[in-house]
Amino acid sequence: MSAGTVMKASLETHIAPIFAPICGKPITRGAFVSEKIEYKVCRNCVMDTTVPNIQFDMQGICHFCNNFKSAQNSQKFKKINRKHQLATMLEKIKVQGRKDKYDCIIGISGGVDSSYLALKVAEWGLRPLVLHVDTGWNSELAVKNIEQVCKSLSFDLVTFVVDWAEMRDLQLAFLRSGVANQDIPQDHVIFAALYKYAKKAKIKNVLDGSNYATESVLPETWGYDAMDSKQLIGIHKQFGTMKLKTFPVLNFLDFNINFKFFGRMRVHNPLNFIDYNKKGAIKLLERDFGWRYYDGKHFESRWTKFFQAYYLPYRFGYDKRKAHLSSLILSKQITRGEAIERLKVPLYNEVDLKPDKIFISKKLQISPEEFDNLISLPLRHFSEFPNYQLQRQLAIRCFSLFTDFFDFWKTKKKAP
Ligand SMILES: [Zn+2]
Repeated sequence: MSAGTVMKASLETHIAPIFAPICGKPITRGAFVSEKIEYKVCRNCVMDTTVPNIQFDMQGICHFCNNFKSAQNSQKFKKINRKHQLATMLEKIKVQGRKDKYDCIIGISGGVDSSYLALKVAEWGLRPLVLHVDTGWNSELAVKNIEQVCKSLSFDLVTFVVDWAEMRDLQLAFLRSGVANQDIPQDHVIFAALYKYAKKAKIKNVLDGSNYATESVLPETWGYDAMDSKQLIGIHKQFGTMKLKTFPVLNFLDFNINFKFFGRMRVHNPLNFIDYNKKGAIKLLERDFGWRYYDGKHFESRWTKFFQAYYLPYRFGYDKRKAHLSSLILSKQITRGEAIERLKVPLYNEVDLKPDKIFISKKLQISPEEFDNLISLPLRHFSEFPNYQLQRQLAIRCFSLFTDFFDFWKTKKKAP
């Protein structure tokens, strides 16, 4: 049987379950994907041609799977001793912050990753300042989870409340722009506040719950970088109605250069150094902290739930569950069959959708009709608005060249 026949058979078997409905509308293709492209889904994970630039090899395996496999097989990855790296990182953090009240700062949303990170930080004997950024969209469950975790671990919790008038104006500006990533205002302010609090409290180490185990697959073409301040300000300038006086904006230089090189601030992702298992983390948090799980990833925010489960798939054809589930397949936490079963569940049902839309429109102080009009505007690509994409790509390239050179230099130094 040829590879082509294998792929065709696989597609015929798996197309139907992958087409999960959103209120009766099946996801047939993503935005900015040519109509001519034949629908395909990876034979190893559940990523498909709703990703505009997805590539498949002759065996029908997507580039996300192949990149993951190449990274795992690389010499660099094989040489990594995660236990040793974690111990070194923790030691450095403790030494750097030994004279201070806090030796690190962590952000907490009430979701699995950040709550589990808090738990591990306590186990590792660190003294963190815990920051929660209240963007106005917290679910009651999120608030309870945050309180339970911090109280149980006796951590100091600071809540930064974003000025709602400014947050609302920014979110409406993004809705008017019609771009895919409507979570930019929320994601940006969470990171910006974290960095600014760290700077103010002179804390050098920021610990972040992002991790490869549950987030290795994330198509860039499904959205755009939330830390691009030029895009944030550009869209607000064009569609906003008031000045952003208190909303923390992290500019390109601060985010990419000043904090890292002059402020000597380091962002660590310690969940990458342990065997992070999502199911196990949820079980532990529920058992020991009275923590409760949400229906989906990042659904601790009522806005993010609507954005991920309705706005993005309904308007753009991007179902983020596919990326989350594919990450779990690659880290061997679920099987492909389980992922396909989960994708059969409708993203949103009519019973929840109507009250959620009413809640969001009330919160944004617009009528449900106006909200419906905003989410029906023509689709726009991020590149139609001001952005730092070129500078960002250059910065990534330079950083990669620098780390490659550093690794080469270290190997040369060790050689007899
Ligand atoms: Zn794949």
